Amino acid sequence: MILDMKRLFDVTDEQEEFSFDIGTDELKERVFSVVFASPLAVSGRAYNRAGIVNVDLKCVFTLAHVCDRCLAEFEREYSFEFSHVCMRDHSSNDEHIIVKDNALDLNDLAISDSLLQLPTKILCREDCRGLCYVCGQNLNEGECNCS
Ligand SMILES: [Zn+2]
Ligand SMILES: [Zn+2]
Repeated sequence: MILDMKRLFDVTDEQEEFSFDIGTDELKERVFSVVFASPLAVSGRAYNRAGIVNVDLKCVFTLAHVCDRCLAEFEREYSFEFSHVCMRDHSSNDEHIIVKDNALDLNDLAISDSLLQLPTKILCREDCRGLCYVCGQNLNEGECNCS
């Protein structure tokens, strides 16, 4: 979804709410680092408060993972909230989003925000015991006979 932000920039107290899904087909085309098991549900609002334009968004989605330690396949749901200040012009602050031609691509924003928030190491559970280095037994499922 492309959010037209002209009125949001021009009119104090202007507000716009949004709620939409990014489908799994689009996610598959654009994201290669993770596998989505559900659409990416995006909801939130953009608002002008005292001349400062903010975008708050919530992203909810489920990923299909392979555990980094034991290789088990599992799905996990994530829910993240983000808040940004939007500027029309160049800003020295990296946290600000620069909105060109008053058009903000909310799909881009939701996808990049969500990916940045994911942990680099994905485990099926915090205390995953992994695989035996010798025989490959999944140690979550029981001990092996290796010493
Ligand atoms: Zn595991
Ligand atoms: Zn073993």
